[in-house]
Amino acid sequence: EQAPVITIDGPSGAGKGTICQVLADRLGWHLLDSGATFRVLALAALHHNVDLGNEDALALLAAHLDVQFVPHDEGVRVILEGEDVSTEIRSQECADAASKVAVFPRVREALLRRQRAFRQSPGLIADGRDMGTVVFTDAEAKIFLTASAEERAKRRYAQLKDKGYDVSIDRLLTEIQDRDYRDANRKVAPLKPAEDALEIDTTSLNIDQVVDVVINYVVTKV
Ligand code: C5P
Repeated sequence: EQAPVITIDGPSGAGKGTICQVLADRLGWHLLDSGATFRVLALAALHHNVDLGNEDALALLAAHLDVQFVPHDEGVRVILEGEDVSTEIRSQECADAASKVAVFPRVREALLRRQRAFRQSPGLIADGRDMGTVVFTDAEAKIFLTASAEERAKRRYAQLKDKGYDVSIDRLLTEIQDRDYRDANRKVAPLKPAEDALEIDTTSLNIDQVVDVVINYVVTKV
């Protein structure tokens, strides 16, 4: 008997990360940030000068990647080759590089095994783009979170400003739109809701309201 899974997919900035963390805490379940698996692979490629367009080399790197995801008070620490890269993988450079390596089927295949290994008792909250459509098609509950690109850029802006970064909201909007386009239009595992997913538009909802909608839905499923 496999442990239960709740998948939360959607574009960047839709609030998946926060919602998944709250759900994992409330249920006492494991958390998979699948985006981090692509980001850490991209960072390793940058470190080792692996061409971001070379599928063979990237797939090989993904298969042998020395990475650990260590649960921690506030989320998960990502350790690459013994070094804590949790902050580094959050950069815009890593986000862009991640969405470039994510287009390759053999890269996704190699990471998919690592992602499925997170499915452990008592259960898993899986955050990503294709958790419900590819990686955990038999999930107990599937959620697709969206918000307008403008709202997502605003949220990202507030987050970065909070951390002391000086960024332009227009530039953030352009970056979000570029990444959405790449993620939604790639041939393998494009960003789209699973047929059996509950779609929630969070544009005019706050975090507590989204958590309520999700919890009310999830309790009917698990
Ligand atoms: O969610 P996050 O912004 O960390 O994801 C970074 C990139 O990794 C995404 O833009 C997407 O290209 C890729 N990704 C993916 N499939 C997932 C999670 C992330 O292709 N399940």
